[in-house]
Parts: sequence; C-alpha cells; structure tokens
Amino acid sequence: MKYHARKRILVTGGAGFLGSHLCERLVEEGHDVICLDNFFTGTKQNIAHLLGRANFEVIRHDLVQPIFLEVDEIYNLACPASPIHYQHNPVKTIKTSVMGAIHMLGLAKRVKAKVLQASTSEVYGNPTVHPQKEDYWGNVNTIGPRSCYDEGKRCAETLFFDYHRQNGVNIRVARIFNTYGPRMHPNDGRVVSNFIVQALKNDPITVYGDGSQTRSFCFVDDMIEGLMRFMQGPDDFVGPVNLGNPAEFTILELAEEVLKITGASSEIVFKPLPQDDPVQRQPDIGLAEAKLGWEPKVPLREGIEKTVQYFREFLG
Ligand code: NAD
Ligand code: UDP
Repeated sequence: MKYHARKRILVTGGAGFLGSHLCERLVEEGHDVICLDNFFTGTKQNIAHLLGRANFEVIRHDLVQPIFLEVDEIYNLACPASPIHYQHNPVKTIKTSVMGAIHMLGLAKRVKAKVLQASTSEVYGNPTVHPQKEDYWGNVNTIGPRSCYDEGKRCAETLFFDYHRQNGVNIRVARIFNTYGPRMHPNDGRVVSNFIVQALKNDPITVYGDGSQTRSFCFVDDMIEGLMRFMQGPDDFVGPVNLGNPAEFTILELAEEVLKITGASSEIVFKPLPQDDPVQRQPDIGLAEAKLGWEPKVPLREGIEKTVQYFREFLG
C-alpha cells in the first residue's frame, strides 16, 4: 500500500468477535491498526494470528476511561453484545456505551478523525413495524433487563449526532442486526453459537418459547464489508443505516438447519422465553443498498457450515 493511502485506524473492542475480523481485514489492506480492548468478552486468541504483524498493535484499556491517541479513523465496537454478558454488570454496560461514545467522539473531535459507531437493531426494541426502517423510532422498555444495552446504544447514537451537529465531527452510525460466524463466544448464550455447540456435543437444542420468533442472520464477512464500505463512503451519508441480512428465519427453522448441517442426533427442547425477547426482527436494507451498493452475499446454509467448521476445531 502506498504510504499516503495507509491510515491509522483504531478498533475499540478489536479482540471481540466482530472486532477481530475487522482488524484482520484492515491489517490485510495494509493499514496501521490499533486494537483497543479490556478483554471482558474478547480474547487474545481471537487476534493471536495478527500479533506478529508490523502494522498491528494491541492496547489493553477500558473505554470507560479516556485515552489520547493520534488516529485517522475509529471503529467504536467496544461493548459486550450478548445478553448474558451485557446483563452481567448492567451499570458497566451502559457506562461503556455512553462514556465510550463520549471518549471516542472527544478523540475524533480533537484529532479530526472519522468515527463509526457500532449501533444495533436493539435500538428498535420490540418493534411494532416490520421490517424495520431507519426512520422507525423504536419500542424500547427503559427499565427492563435489556435496557442497559438498548438505552446505552440509543444514548450513544444521540451523542454521535450531537457531536456531529455541534462540533462537525465526521460520524457514521451503523445499526447492526444479528451477526454470526467464526470466533463467536462459545457460551455467550447467543442463539447461533448455542445451537451449534449443543449440536456438536449432541446435547439437547434449547429453543426458547415455541421457536416461532424470527431473526435475520448475517454472516460476519458480509457485515465487515458493510462496515468498511460505510466508513469509506461519502461524508454526507452518516446514517443511521441498517446493516444485516433481510432473510428471515424462525428460531425453530434455525435449529433444524443446524441439526441438518451437523448431522447431530440432539433433540429439540423448549424453554421459557426470556423477558422482553423481541418477537420479530428483520432489517430493511434498502438504504444501505442504495447508498453503499451493499447487500449480504452469504446464504444461511453456507455461513452456518463455516461456523460449524470453526466450532468443530475450537471444541477439539
Ligand atoms: P463481543 O462481545 O465479541 O465484542 C465486544 C468487545 O468489546 C470485546 O472484545 C470486549 O472485551 C470489548 N469491551 C467490552 N467492554 C469494553 C470496555 N469497557 N473497554 C474496552 N473494551 C471493551 O461482541 P461483538 O459481537 O463483536 O460486537 C461488537 C459490537 O457490535 C458491539 O458494540 C455490539 O453492540 C455491536 N453489535 C453486534 C451484533 C452481533 O450480532 N454480533 C449485533 C448488533 C450490534
Ligand atoms: N434463543 C433460543 N435458544 C437459545 C438462545 C437463544 O431459542 O439457546 C432465542 C432467543 O430467545 C431469541 C433468539 O434466539 O429469540 C435470538 O437470541 P440471541 O440472544 O442470539 O439474540 P437477540 O435476542 O439479541 O436477537
């Protein structure tokens, strides 16, 4: 890569599931990549293969505290993403979203960096419109068990737009829908990793509720491509923009697909539905298609096959 095309890029949460894939892509493109992480849910193993590279470095830091760096771009991904992890210490979760956003926006303002926020479909809460478009304001409980995550992310979006309007910070806000793939945490309770790990151990597959609730699952490579295109896109397109795969499946269909691919003999067992579990979730990605020319390419079957392969090796 030519020297002037090389950027110094900070990835917060860079040792996590999405962050490690993003670091990998950016390192491969020749950028100077700083991975910042407190290793709450991320692991050194996720980024071990990058550690010897001259254009990659790691900082152990908690984003609740400020940090001063010189960078050109920031991808702000630091925040536990699975309900088990973000509910473990809810006050810390909301601090990470809110203080993390303030610190990264402050940094971006000071060094005139571009900053992208990893927001979430959870800002729509339990949606009353379907599929969800970016102009839907959401249906979120302010005091429930998911609120620390949902409201933290909503507040972060507000901060991004206020820093943009008030201080001219160059922002991007991406609303990420359920994403899966290699390096998901094996026991973070998310549905794809749960089902695959259960199937590979021939343990019962735990479907919550009657399994008729829907989700749309995006393979990680598609998501990383979307985030990078958005960052590189025109400065007058700041979002929020939905990134996800609109193909919608019931949780029961997902369980059956995992059973087929793994050839497991696990039985399906039904467990109570967690509180505030959204009934239906599907992104409308028309805006991302129009503005970024982006759409997911990897079908569920292929993505699940790749993820199964990863977990087979991971579990030994
Ligand atoms: P993850 O838990 O694997 O990664 C989060 C990373 O942030 C971890 O490495 C963790 O150690 C780090 N972290 C947490 N708190 C921190 C703190 N206070 N200081 C520094 N680092 C901290 O989750 P993920 O799935 O990779 O998600 C990455 C981002 O994308 C999150 O912000 C999440 O909210 C968002 N997102 C993910 C999904 C998804 O389906 N994976 C969906 C919507 C939004
Ligand atoms: N789910 C399930 N069995 C599991 C884990 C999750 O049926 O072992 C369900 C969960 O109730 C939800 C869906 O799968 O309806 C997706 O859950 P996940 O935690 O992965 O993501 P989110 O609810 O944040 O979309």
